[in-house]
Amino acid sequence: MADEKSPRPAVEETIIIGSGPAGWTAGLYTARANLNPLLITGNDYGGQVSITYEVENYPGFPEALSGPELVEKMKEQAEKFGLTTEYDHVSEIVTDQHPFVVRTVNGKEYKAKSLILCTGARPRYLQVPGEKELTGKGVSYCATCDGFFFRGKDLVVVGGGDSAVEEALFLTKFATKVRIIHRRDELRASKILRDRAFANEKIEFVWNSVVTSINGNGSVSGVSIENTLTGEASELKTDGVFVYVGHLPNNDLYHGKLHLDEDGHLITDKKMRTNVAGIFAAGEIQDKVFKQVATSVGQGCSAAMQTEKFLAEFEAEGYHGAGVDAREFPEIPTFVPQRAAERELVLA
Ligand SMILES: Cc1cc2nc3c(=O)[nH]c(=O)nc-3n(C[C@H](O)[C@H](O)[C@H](O)COP(=O)(O)OP(=O)(O)OC[C@H]3O[C@@H](n4cnc5c(N)ncnc54)[C@H](O)[C@@H]3O)c2cc1C
Repeated sequence: MADEKSPRPAVEETIIIGSGPAGWTAGLYTARANLNPLLITGNDYGGQVSITYEVENYPGFPEALSGPELVEKMKEQAEKFGLTTEYDHVSEIVTDQHPFVVRTVNGKEYKAKSLILCTGARPRYLQVPGEKELTGKGVSYCATCDGFFFRGKDLVVVGGGDSAVEEALFLTKFATKVRIIHRRDELRASKILRDRAFANEKIEFVWNSVVTSINGNGSVSGVSIENTLTGEASELKTDGVFVYVGHLPNNDLYHGKLHLDEDGHLITDKKMRTNVAGIFAAGEIQDKVFKQVATSVGQGCSAAMQTEKFLAEFEAEGYHGAGVDAREFPEIPTFVPQRAAERELVLA
């Protein structure tokens, strides 16, 4: 805890918000740059990785390791170089004055010359019995991450948007059969994906149906479903359940303060800058395309390097950038969704 270590400065050089892969990486890089960074973990310590049973696709670890193990390694490495970790949750940031102000649910208030926002995202859950207990034991929210473990298995995918169909197609590389359970009688996914799914002989559809529970003892054995038109209940036997009913960025702190795209992700440019000078963002709070540990780590690194540059310029020139500063930010990107159906994810 920050209190047990050396006293914090009156104004922090940088505060990192979030303890997922992007946050720890930003912590590592800013610590090694001698910025004496402070990282505030948030209520979900370790972020989404900490609910990941096994991470097999993070380079450098040929033997898979568990998500919580990876988090501890990232934390240890960053703290070794001087990162201070504070176990707290940010309730408010003030962005229209400099230094910025960060307030927490434990009643702390910090001032900071720069912020690195790594508050990530969360999958939308089905919130049905069995889901929580069987996550990592057959229930997954990431086909790229977990599809490999389901070679030769029978799977269901829940959802009807682009992500659901894209991931169902991906899963056919491993599974013998993939059933898409959708609460309507047609997919919302783009035409090209629909066509591919209809043409794929491994994919079947269960229309007008919602999952009411995920069943199994220690591993998934099936799902209970209910027909939305008739109310009829039945059970499907399956080995795994992939849930794609939406992905929600953790953006509560930013409304009315920083530019968000239409899906609620922070808008950043290639240098990870938000529209306020000195405030950077990394990881899934600003990236809805790649959504991996490796990409979040890369973005955390970039944001930290830019923070260091910003602070050097700030020391030399002072602050000139509260609010949108056209001189500092000549090219605030306008978000144009590549796939219209992505917009519907949060509504799935
Ligand atoms: C079940 C599952 C399995 C996955 N498996 C893999 C895998 O095998 N390989 C892979 O590469 N990727 C995997 N992913 C994706 C990967 O976990 C994410 O891409 C990655 O964690 C995103 O990192 P992040 O740092 O952007 O944010 P997150 O991991 O989302 O972390 C966000 C952090 O922000 C904090 N926070 C939020 N709000 C506040 C606040 N107000 N104050 C303070 N802190 C706050 C949270 O507490 C949390 O610590 C998986 C995801 C899931 C859900």
